[in-house]
Amino acid sequence: MNVLADARELAAEGPVCDACLGRAFADRSHGLTNADRGRSLRIAAALDDDEPYESTDTADCWVCEGLCAEFDAWAERCAAAVENVEFDTYQVGTRTPPLIQENERLFREAAGMEPDAGEAFNSECNREVGKRIGPLTDTTVDFGRPDVQFTLDVDADEVEVDVHSAFVYGRYRKLERDIPQTEWPCNACDKSGYVGSHPCEKCGGTGYLYEHSVEELTAPIVRDVMDGTDATFHGAGREDVDARMVGTGRPFVIEVIEPRRRNVDTDRLEGDINAFAEGRVEVDRLGLAHYDLVERVKGLDASKRYRAEVEFDEPVAADDLAAALDDLDGATVEQYTPHRVDHRRASLTRTREVYEATGKVDDPTHATVEIHGAGGLYVKELVSGDEGRTQPNLADRLGVSAEVTALDVVGVYGDAEPFEDPAYFRGSAPEPLEAAPEPASEDDADASEE
Ligand SMILES: [Zn+2]
Ligand SMILES: [Zn+2]
Repeated sequence: MNVLADARELAAEGPVCDACLGRAFADRSHGLTNADRGRSLRIAAALDDDEPYESTDTADCWVCEGLCAEFDAWAERCAAAVENVEFDTYQVGTRTPPLIQENERLFREAAGMEPDAGEAFNSECNREVGKRIGPLTDTTVDFGRPDVQFTLDVDADEVEVDVHSAFVYGRYRKLERDIPQTEWPCNACDKSGYVGSHPCEKCGGTGYLYEHSVEELTAPIVRDVMDGTDATFHGAGREDVDARMVGTGRPFVIEVIEPRRRNVDTDRLEGDINAFAEGRVEVDRLGLAHYDLVERVKGLDASKRYRAEVEFDEPVAADDLAAALDDLDGATVEQYTPHRVDHRRASLTRTREVYEATGKVDDPTHATVEIHGAGGLYVKELVSGDEGRTQPNLADRLGVSAEVTALDVVGVYGDAEPFEDPAYFRGSAPEPLEAAPEPASEDDADASEE
């Protein structure tokens, strides 16, 4: 490849700007802009030929039709478009007009070069506009998942702005029963509150089966503080509507759509949410998170610790309860999909570990038991047996009927992978939660006996 010879041929095709000329040789040498390359090639050819050097006005360029003179203007338009948006990172994309792409191809072919030699216009435009936006907005380019995505639509002469979601992590405690995690629309009136012209009887005309939800008590506050258009609640699993969530709380991420503010004070946000929820729900360990924490929170198979109030239909002796729980401690349980969830889940038998089972008799027909089990263990069924669908179970072991009358989730643990991993947070991560108590393995049990 004779660079100077190719450059002479390209320049002879008609008026071409330094950037378009240099772009055909973008893979030669580093640390230069394409305009530097083009101008240098022109100068080198002029010296080599001992001819006068002539510069070309970018506006006259037949390849880009003057677009290479507009990088500053596009950058200023981008900055103006996000004047009221707080962001730290951005990325630029360009929709290049088909005519320019065709010109670029013809330009190279006329000099006998490969039609895609060097670099394409959109790639240069992304970089040149991109590096100008940073200083104008005090932000940085991010080629992964930026806060803001600019798209330069050259034909439409428009800057499109996508403000990507912001994410707030935390743990919630649900201190009252009968609060679903997410809003539960009434199916009788399809959320409208009316059946025909009459208020819906099933939901009392509210459109929802429950007055409150964890989502409704938390997400709108985050949306307002971040000045977004909407907010979505993502939980690390969910407890039954009638179960409280206490102790460690349950991890969640609230996603705010099109936020105008991102770097909010999470201590203050925590106070705002807790004041709004009025003791029904409490949040803590708030942190500003990256988008990939959503998948982690939804996908991590966390172990859970439960506290259940249990009622027996016949008296149970303290020693018998202790022995039965000792049997369940460390057991592998087979659970056929419970009756109560039949309609929502495919029926199958699954296996879950019980890491720990302890408890005490409160009076002859009542006990309080604590179970720490693998994610997905159905605790109400572990106690009742669910008509033989869960094996082994507490009721069979005691030879009585046993029912959970009240259930609290007291711990949700990422175990070996804590939810509060700093890699998933912007800035400072929340204090990691203490690891879950060690699951009792058989070796441990043997070692600790005597
Ligand atoms: Zn040009
Ligand atoms: Zn209704």
